[in-house]
Amino acid sequence: MISLTSLLAGCPIEGTPLLIVRNPYDGSCVGEVTTATREHAEAAIAAAVAFRDTPSRYRRSAILESARTALELRREEFARTITLETGLALRESRYEVGRTLDVLRFASMEALRDDGQIFSCDISEQGKARKIFTTREPLRCAVAVTPFNHPLNQVAHKVGPAIAAGTPMVLKPSEKTPLTALKFAGLLSEAGLPGPMLSVLLGPTHAVAEVLVGHPDVEVVAFTGSVPVGKRIASTAGYKKLVLELGGNDPLIVLEDADLDLAVTLAAEGSYRNSGQRCTAVKRILVQDSIAEEFTRRFVEKTREYICGDPMDEATRVGTVIDEASARSLEAVVLEAVAAGAKVLIGGTRRGALMEPTVLIDVPRDCRMVVSESFGPLAPIMKIRDLDDAMVVANSTAYGLSSGVVTTHLQNALKAIRGLRCGTVNINEVPGFRVESSPFGGIKDSGLGIKEGVIESIKGYTYVKTFSLPW
Ligand code: NAP
Repeated sequence: MISLTSLLAGCPIEGTPLLIVRNPYDGSCVGEVTTATREHAEAAIAAAVAFRDTPSRYRRSAILESARTALELRREEFARTITLETGLALRESRYEVGRTLDVLRFASMEALRDDGQIFSCDISEQGKARKIFTTREPLRCAVAVTPFNHPLNQVAHKVGPAIAAGTPMVLKPSEKTPLTALKFAGLLSEAGLPGPMLSVLLGPTHAVAEVLVGHPDVEVVAFTGSVPVGKRIASTAGYKKLVLELGGNDPLIVLEDADLDLAVTLAAEGSYRNSGQRCTAVKRILVQDSIAEEFTRRFVEKTREYICGDPMDEATRVGTVIDEASARSLEAVVLEAVAAGAKVLIGGTRRGALMEPTVLIDVPRDCRMVVSESFGPLAPIMKIRDLDDAMVVANSTAYGLSSGVVTTHLQNALKAIRGLRCGTVNINEVPGFRVESSPFGGIKDSGLGIKEGVIESIKGYTYVKTFSLPW
């Protein structure tokens, strides 16, 4: 069993109530973590705000690189910790560690880069012989709140850019997955990160998360999680910068000119990877009428390859969802769709927190499964007449995170890029495709259009100072 403590400015919080972490697959206790109180939350913010000894760019880059090297050496241990507390199949956890190594590398590189600009002022009749310069200054305190579904990479996407920016951060990870987050903080501390630059606090929402979000000394809140919690934060945070990365309901549009083998592979990978628990997982497969039958036949065959079971078994491709309650609610969503006329072609059954990859057809366009976010390995196929019809369906929900379009025609690709109202359009790829430094984030209920990704996040954790000099 893993025993860890919440961290206040790098120091362990001891003697407080324990948060027990359970393995979603078998319910066994896999870890315990000490929790923080309101006073700890306030002290963490005070330590961050008082911190003046910001390491140089060189030093910040070195800390990130050294944490990367340490994670590389311990990648299997981290992958197993992720699997233990999330129930995700080992191949998913290993993939996540790989992504996190990229985040650390890119953040380490960005720490060295100065993106300041220079403006000559003698460029108009009103101008004069001066120059204006910009530089990015760290904020005094950032708060990050992260979800359970990528317990390492989501944390790295907040903490890595904050370190690169020189901004102290107080992190509140998901209470379902605190072990990976605290181990990651340990790596950074061993790599030389000064204590006040990172506190990691677990604890009751009213005493920790809500205190952090609403605190007047916090200059930015970066939140990744569900729409309801994101909207609550938007209404309670008060006067501060907000970066909100919320839920999704992403479509994969398969047109009749698509390479069908590619379309089937993308639909399966997009729907089932990470047990369907990616904000950018494929949640709706929109297939043109003329190829729907053939696509469905091949997709059902492909789905058989996604063996669902013990997350630690090397043969398993789909582990559990985060807990039994989530699996039960996915089961209920399937039953509701069936009652509305949908047919289950494969899957549909639940054992504990295991939800089988499930293919459905004839899913009505207004069914809860395809209107809201169903955070699990459900793959509803919906027929569309043509690309225009697909875009109407794709744009019809409250979400606007990402999308994928499978086509061999450039004109279709260009039309989809222009017509889909969401943060990303990937042609011949899953909606979730990205590199860790590219801009990422959604619009509508999926976010405020402020992007993350290592480079954009650094902008979020800094402000631009403008200064001018005679020239
Ligand atoms: P969640 O229930 O919204 O929780 C996210 C975090 O918010 C957790 O740390 C949670 O703490 C905390 N929280 C809960 N109530 C809060 C409050 N009143 N004030 C401040 N923080 C509060 O989300 P989840 O179920 O962990 O994650 C799944 C969701 O995240 C999905 O909707 C998914 O689409 C979304 N997501 C979005 C992105 C993106 O980039 N757009 C990426 C990944 C995931 P506790 O654990 O203590 O409840």
